[in-house]
Amino acid sequence: MIPRAFDYFDPASIPEAVDLLGKYGDDAKLLAGGQSLLPLMKIRLASPKIVVDLWRIPDLAYIREENGAIVIGAMTTHYMLQTSNELQTKLPILAQAAGVVGDPLVRNLGTIGGSAAHAAPNADYPAVLVALDAVFNLTGPAATRKVSAADFFKDSFTTALDPAEILAEVRISIPPDDRAGVYLKLSRRGTDFAVVSAAVILRKDENGRCADARVVLGGVGTVPVRAKAAEDLLNGESLTPDLINRAAKAAAQGLEPPSDVHGDSQYRIDVSKVYVRRAVEAAWRHIS
Ligand SMILES: Cc1cc2nc3c(=O)[nH]c(=O)nc-3n(C[C@H](O)[C@H](O)[C@H](O)COP(=O)(O)OP(=O)(O)OC[C@H]3O[C@@H](n4cnc5c(N)ncnc54)[C@H](O)[C@@H]3O)c2cc1C
Repeated sequence: MIPRAFDYFDPASIPEAVDLLGKYGDDAKLLAGGQSLLPLMKIRLASPKIVVDLWRIPDLAYIREENGAIVIGAMTTHYMLQTSNELQTKLPILAQAAGVVGDPLVRNLGTIGGSAAHAAPNADYPAVLVALDAVFNLTGPAATRKVSAADFFKDSFTTALDPAEILAEVRISIPPDDRAGVYLKLSRRGTDFAVVSAAVILRKDENGRCADARVVLGGVGTVPVRAKAAEDLLNGESLTPDLINRAAKAAAQGLEPPSDVHGDSQYRIDVSKVYVRRAVEAAWRHIS
């Protein structure tokens, strides 16, 4: 289908884009890679009167190291993240997640800012960004504020962004060398959204025990679900197959995933156990 008619603006700076959002309010939508917005416009589930394109704003697509953190501009594409040497060395879990988003066309156009702002419950970045304690810089008319990933994702397709704010940058502290992270995703076809995904980050302490475990699931709720019961079981222990199995079961306890054509609720619970187990095993192997 063809979208309803809209007026198009291509501001040259973030303040200009923020002004347009302030001026047009609910009538306006930002356009990044268009990989979520344009399909919605074509089937007329979204019909903004004003489209504010972020492509002409210079310097919004970058990956750089700053004071022990990797900072990523909102317009950085999935492909840039997937292929970045810096990320593959310092934040491989994020490069992994970027590499399994959709297909090459989607990865060439879609952006980390657009994906986070869209906040699809089965998208690949949210669980990883929560596991990594990412911080989002949101720029509005008055100021820029910082929001943690855990506070940013509020509900399905709902974030902490105010209507006149732009997600400008994602900042992630570089994990020390004694940590390893793994992202695993089950999808029906290679290019699909996740049925279930698991992001796991582990540290091995000086006694060879697991510490600071992060276990976060995607696709099983409206927002990423942190599996604290599993983390508690792993922390302070030498990881054995039995313990990892128990942690995986704990991760799935209390989940109330949705049922849809890709899998019913119980299927998602069962897959969560398997994917947490596999991700913990793989992360532990990386640091052992
Ligand atoms: C065929 C197909 C398969 C896909 N498969 C996957 C998949 O497997 N995994 C996955 O995670 N995703 C998948 N996607 C979605 C893809 O990752 C999109 O790129 C992403 O959801 C949106 O990013 P975008 O840059 O295209 O944003 P857009 O579509 O341009 O925008 C999405 C929304 O975010 C808002 N927005 C955009 N940028 C900003 C910003 N900087 N600040 C504030 N608001 C902003 C827009 O107004 C809009 O509401 C798929 C998409 C397609 C078409």
